[in-house]
Amino acid sequence: MNQDLFVYNTLTRKKEKFIPLNPPHVGIYVCGPTVYSDAHLGNSRTYISFDLIFRYLSHLGYKVRYVRNITDAGHLEGDAGDEGEDKISKKAKLAQLEPMEIVQKYTVGFHDVMKAFNILPPSIEPTATGHIIEQIELVKVILAKGYAYEVDGSVYFDVEKYNQTKDYGVLSGRNLEDMMNNTRTLGGQDEKRGKLDFALWIKAKPEHLMKWPSPWGVGFPGWHLECSAMSNKYLGEHFDIHGGGIDLVPTHHTNEIAQNMAACGKNPATYWIHTNMLTVNGQKMSKSLGNSFLPYELFSGNNAILNKGYSPMTVRFFMLQANYRSTLDFGNEAMEASEKGFKRLMNALTLIDGLKASAATEIEIQPLIDRCYAAMNDDFNSPVLIAELFEASRIINSVHDGKMKIDAVNLELLKNTMTIFVFDILGLKNEQAANDDLPKVLDFIVNLRNEAKINHDYAASDKIRNGLQEIGFQLKDNKDGTNWSKI
Ligand code: AMP
Ligand code: ZN
Repeated sequence: MNQDLFVYNTLTRKKEKFIPLNPPHVGIYVCGPTVYSDAHLGNSRTYISFDLIFRYLSHLGYKVRYVRNITDAGHLEGDAGDEGEDKISKKAKLAQLEPMEIVQKYTVGFHDVMKAFNILPPSIEPTATGHIIEQIELVKVILAKGYAYEVDGSVYFDVEKYNQTKDYGVLSGRNLEDMMNNTRTLGGQDEKRGKLDFALWIKAKPEHLMKWPSPWGVGFPGWHLECSAMSNKYLGEHFDIHGGGIDLVPTHHTNEIAQNMAACGKNPATYWIHTNMLTVNGQKMSKSLGNSFLPYELFSGNNAILNKGYSPMTVRFFMLQANYRSTLDFGNEAMEASEKGFKRLMNALTLIDGLKASAATEIEIQPLIDRCYAAMNDDFNSPVLIAELFEASRIINSVHDGKMKIDAVNLELLKNTMTIFVFDILGLKNEQAANDDLPKVLDFIVNLRNEAKINHDYAASDKIRNGLQEIGFQLKDNKDGTNWSKI
């Protein structure tokens, strides 16, 4: 069995053995959301994919510092970096709110979605506005090294100059000439010297809401700068993994690498990992294309393209049934198939505790465990892992039906394998189990209340009844006892 973990590195365009710089520590930086609107289901796919990676590395025993930022300033409408209005400022003006009210609202919403999908919180979640000083310092260094220039209060990165000694297209694999040919020509109004130059610091117009003083005047940082500054601060000049959606490769990550290389001569990460897009009818799900929908719409089924709603864990399972490097097309039939598959897995898990061990075994579990690890070690191949877990479910069902014998040692291995891979690594939860437990909990509380009544402790019995009423359960006393119902 191959015990080594291999990861696909966008930088080298091949799968490479994962060798951390400073084991057992592993540093990961993933570009987080721009909190100007609700995170859609496509965004969730990217964070579910990195959650799988975070969970697996942690399971392998690495001490992972996972940094995932919140972009709360500087991301302009033109995603290339320096055109249009700041997305958050624009929304704030439209809604007549403080930009930080927008930021707060969508940060809270983002966290709620992450929780619904059982995505673990990162170790550090830094914000762009919390690191303005670090960003200004970084601009100073890049200027001092001669890779940037100032024009009327704004500072731009000089891509052509940089490319004379370094490779601007190192991540995308494209050469400068091609990139030049695919970029619009500069207009007379443009302050930039070169077509591919991008803003490090942008002079704020008087009406701009989020701005800070700097050596170049009042302004705000360019979007790409924050990730260079914050990854450097929390993970150092060079760390293990940098990640994000594949759409970030040509501009955001390309510029991030250029900034770091210009400042300290180092590409920030050894491995660049990129997740592929969630698509709808083959098109990238995105807010601007108008084909995006929100996780809550999917949970409730409240969207024209959906036949019905699906639970958060069904959606997570659906996402994990695809490899993170493949596109995944959203569709009702695919969701229904995932719902069936997820139920099958969960049903097997509910049987497992009741299985009886025999003296002899007709099945050895170790080869199955080896295959589960082999799948994950092959660039976090969750669909192959899930196929193995279905195999484990078949074994569980056969033992349960008395068609197969398993001894105590193998039964224990089977139980552990299922728990580790399904819950710890894939991060799934048995939603049914949680619901099944609720009646038991309510019966228990009703009994407590009845005991209180028998003891003439009416204050306690009223408190229990009123408390349950407040959270949506009504108690009715009748001659046979007490019934509870959902209000
Ligand atoms: P944004 O908030 O637009 O900066 O996006 C946050 C993250 O979601 C980035 O890493 C994007 O690459 C990723 N992303 C955006 N759209 C999709 C999609 N349709 N499928 C998967 N990931 C996406
Ligand atoms: Zn970033």
